[in-house]
Amino acid sequence: MVIDDVALTTMVREAARSVDGLETGGILLGVDSTDGMLIRHAGGPGPKAQRGERTFLRDLDHAQNLARSAWAEDGSQWVGEWHTHPTGGPSPSEVDCRSYMRHLNDVDLGFEEFVAIIAGFDSSGGVILATWLIERDRIRPVAAEKLTPSFLQTNSRRRKP
Ligand SMILES: [Zn+2]
Repeated sequence: MVIDDVALTTMVREAARSVDGLETGGILLGVDSTDGMLIRHAGGPGPKAQRGERTFLRDLDHAQNLARSAWAEDGSQWVGEWHTHPTGGPSPSEVDCRSYMRHLNDVDLGFEEFVAIIAGFDSSGGVILATWLIERDRIRPVAAEKLTPSFLQTNSRRRKP
């Protein structure tokens, strides 16, 4: 799996909004081919997103608009989603897993697998991104090629207020 710098930068920047203690997130757009998964774009929450302490409901219109423009721009499709965990670790919660499985089992959506990125925070406020690949019978952590600690450290430090 490769995550483009543009998508990484968006997630790190947007995740910082969770300094208010509420979750945020967005959709992931890219290409899932036999060569592997490439994530090109990460969306923000959108104006109508519902942000809770342990829940996040994205703004559907916003997500659909992003998906349309990414498709027109470079053929990217909806491949997954990302959200923050302001407290607790960057592992999918039970609610998260149920929601991922609903997406996977929805034949209209046509997912073979689903990417979930969860952003947590270290003690100094740095963003930690954990990537998970959701398959029908298992959820496994993925070491994404572009998710190097140096990139994340550099960016999160630079963005600290
Ligand atoms: Zn969650």
